[in-house]
Amino acid sequence: MRITELELKNFRNVKELSLIPDAGINILYGENAQGKTNVLEAIWLFSGLKSFRGAKDAELVNFEAECAKMKLGFATSARTNKAEITVNGRRNATLNGVSLKSPSELIGKFRTVVFAPSFLSIIQDGPGERRKFTDAAVCQLKPGYAGLLAEYNRLIKQRNSLLKDVSYNSALLDVLDVLDEKAAEAGERIIAERSLYLKTVKKSVCDIYGGLSSGREEISFEYVKKYADGKNTPLKDIFRANRKKDILNKTTSAGPHRDDIEIYINGISARLYGSQGQQRSCALALKLGEASVIREQTGEQPVALLDDVMSELDMNRQDYILNHIKDWQVFITCCEPSSVLRMCSGKTLNIEKGRLI
Ligand code: ATP
Ligand code: MG
Repeated sequence: MRITELELKNFRNVKELSLIPDAGINILYGENAQGKTNVLEAIWLFSGLKSFRGAKDAELVNFEAECAKMKLGFATSARTNKAEITVNGRRNATLNGVSLKSPSELIGKFRTVVFAPSFLSIIQDGPGERRKFTDAAVCQLKPGYAGLLAEYNRLIKQRNSLLKDVSYNSALLDVLDVLDEKAAEAGERIIAERSLYLKTVKKSVCDIYGGLSSGREEISFEYVKKYADGKNTPLKDIFRANRKKDILNKTTSAGPHRDDIEIYINGISARLYGSQGQQRSCALALKLGEASVIREQTGEQPVALLDDVMSELDMNRQDYILNHIKDWQVFITCCEPSSVLRMCSGKTLNIEKGRLI
C-alpha cells in the first residue's frame, strides 16, 4: 500500500497542500501548532474510520471555509486508486469516481496504521480505551465487525432501557428474555473476534516489544471477561444470573462492553507500574503489531502514520523503530528532524502555518 499523491483544501489549518510523497519515509517537521498532525489526520480519514483524535466532522473544516476537500491517490499491488473525501456538515466519499454510501465503505480499501501520543491512553486509561483499540483493529480486518459492534451496542441500550421499565411492568420480562438471547449471541461473537485478534497479534507484539527493549523486557496481554467466574459460562447465562442485580441498577453489569485487556511488562501491570518509556513502547508495539497482522492477512503493508513517536524514547528504542519501519511507506512527524534523519533517507517536508515550505 502506497500513497502516490495527496491534496488538501481547507482541512483544519491547511488551506492548500499538494504532495507527492516518497515511497519510503516522509518526515513532516516544523514547530508546534503548524499542522503536522493535521496532515496525518487527513490521511487517516481515508481508512474509512473516524478521526483518531475523536474529532467531530465540523471541527475538520477550516474556520474560514464551508467545506474541506481531500484527495488521495494510492496504489495497491493490484491497482491504483483515487479517493476523495468532502466534509461539509457531513462526510462524503468517492472511490475511483464512484460515490460511496458512507465513508466507512473505504474500510479495507486504503489501509493505514496510526500511532498518536494520545494512544498512551491504551495503556494508562480505563478498559474502554483498550476495547476501542482492539475493536478498531478488528474493524480493519473484518468488514462486518463494525456492524456487529453497532448491533450489540444497540441491543445493550435497549436492554438497559427495558431494565428500567421491567420493575413497573413484569409482562416485559418475556421481551427481556428475547433481548438477552440476541445480545448474548452478538456478544459471544464479539468476544470471539477480539480474542482471535489478540491471539493473532501476539507474536508480532512480543517480538517488537522485545526488540524495543533490546531483549531486556517481555510484554504479555490477555483478554479479561470482567464477569468471569473462571468457568467459561455462556453470556446468556451470565445475563440471566445478573438479571436481579441489573434490574436494581438499571444497567447491564457484564458483557463485552465491560471487558478489558490486561497488559503486563515482565509479568506486572503496565498500567500500574510501567515507566513513561515502557508505556509508550507497549502502545507502539501494539500498533506496529497491528501493521504486521494487516500485512499477513491482506498481503498489503499498511501505510504507517507516526505522530511524534520518538519523544520519551531512548536512542536504542528510537533506532529499533526506524529500523523496523525502513521498508514501509511512513509519515512521521517531529519538531526536530535530525533525530529521524540520522538513520533514514526519504523526503523531508517542512510545514509552517499549514503550508509546505
Ligand atoms: P505539535 O507539534 O504541537 O503537535 P502540530 O504541527 O502537529 O503541532 P496540529 O495539531 O496539526 O499541529 O494543529 C495546527 C493548528 O491547527 C492548531 O494550532 C489549531 O489551532 C489549528 N486548527 C485546528 N483545527 C482548525 C480548523 N478547523 N480551522 C483552522 N485551524 C485549525
Ligand atoms: Mg502534532
